[in-house]
Amino acid sequence: MNIIDIINKKRLNQSLSIDELKASFLGYLNNEVKDYQMSSLLMAININGLNDEEIINLTNIFVNSGDVLNFNHLGLTADKHSTGGVGDKVTLILGPILAACGIKFPKMSGRGLGYTGGTIDKLESIPGFNVNLTKDQIYHQIEDIGISISSQTNDLVPLDKVIYDLRNSSGTVMSIPLIAISIMSKKIACGSKTILIDIKCGNGALIKDMNEANELSRIMQLIAKSYDLNIITEITDMNNPLGNNIGNALEVVEALQILNGKDCELTKLVINLSSKIIMYAKKINHEDALLEVINSINNKNAYNKFLEVIKYQGGRIEELKLSDQIIEVRSNKSGILKEINALNISKLAFNLGAGRLYLEDEINYGVGIELIKNINDQVNINDVLCKLYINHQVNYNIDDIFRIEW
Ligand code: URA
Repeated sequence: MNIIDIINKKRLNQSLSIDELKASFLGYLNNEVKDYQMSSLLMAININGLNDEEIINLTNIFVNSGDVLNFNHLGLTADKHSTGGVGDKVTLILGPILAACGIKFPKMSGRGLGYTGGTIDKLESIPGFNVNLTKDQIYHQIEDIGISISSQTNDLVPLDKVIYDLRNSSGTVMSIPLIAISIMSKKIACGSKTILIDIKCGNGALIKDMNEANELSRIMQLIAKSYDLNIITEITDMNNPLGNNIGNALEVVEALQILNGKDCELTKLVINLSSKIIMYAKKINHEDALLEVINSINNKNAYNKFLEVIKYQGGRIEELKLSDQIIEVRSNKSGILKEINALNISKLAFNLGAGRLYLEDEINYGVGIELIKNINDQVNINDVLCKLYINHQVNYNIDDIFRIEW
């Protein structure tokens, strides 16, 4: 089978057979297909798409390129994925809630590339926290305490790793079928039976357009159905940051505050998402699931579960450090706070040192932004809008971040 013929077929918007998909994608994993050939094929897929049969076939090829975990013997399991947002610390809150409600949560997460850190970076801001767990360690930990949060092992969907790197460097990230296959293959290989996908849509997210978010949701449902999985896809707003804290250690602090009873928009979002997972996983009605979630917060079981997982993975939460250089950013006008621009605030967080451009770059865990004013708050001249935790001076324009109007 000739790779040039396969590229030309997709260029002409013809569908590829399972053998053609295997020859090109597994050929790339085995170094038989070159970077420039795979980049061409990915670009043809970006432009002409994949039909539903190609999507299912390619997902199978991705999943079976490595290990597939199985937790069926350990009871009810759930997983979640967010397509990425500013200040998105949902996993740190939702995971302990699920575990406290008896749902096993073997979570594998990624590091952040771009403006802010990923879940793994946030956890690594806790001194001693070990994110590198082996398969056996994950199985043991899930049996012992019902939750683990670790970095994705190299043996899981190795095909996604090489394709994702190439997509990043060839301008072919924004294909909705490829995003769906990339995310779903990893979720399927992680072995949970109920999966929640939080599709972020807005200026601070990968997906900026509602039609694309709906198409991503449709494809993910299609893939989940072919694997007989429970899937919940939620499309949530990412025009404003999630919660008040942006930055790695600051986000751990906010996760602990929410598990300890702080009530804000993010609390409502996490309660909504976790109750839906519990409803589907336990096959109970939504009111009962909601009650379980609220009880787990009120009786501190979820809070204690977070402390338990931190300790189990070697973390010393008492040593978590925020930068002690703090600048207060004050308003130069009065009015109502209408918008906190998620994209621009994430760029500020990046300039402070909270994110990385390349995987080998170092993150400064203690820097970030604490929002003091929230959307719809009244603001007077000279009120503090946010605090910056810094370790070097940065330039910023507050009007690019906060839109204040009457
Ligand atoms: N996250 C992933 O894991 N894959 C994508 O393609 C996009 C976001």
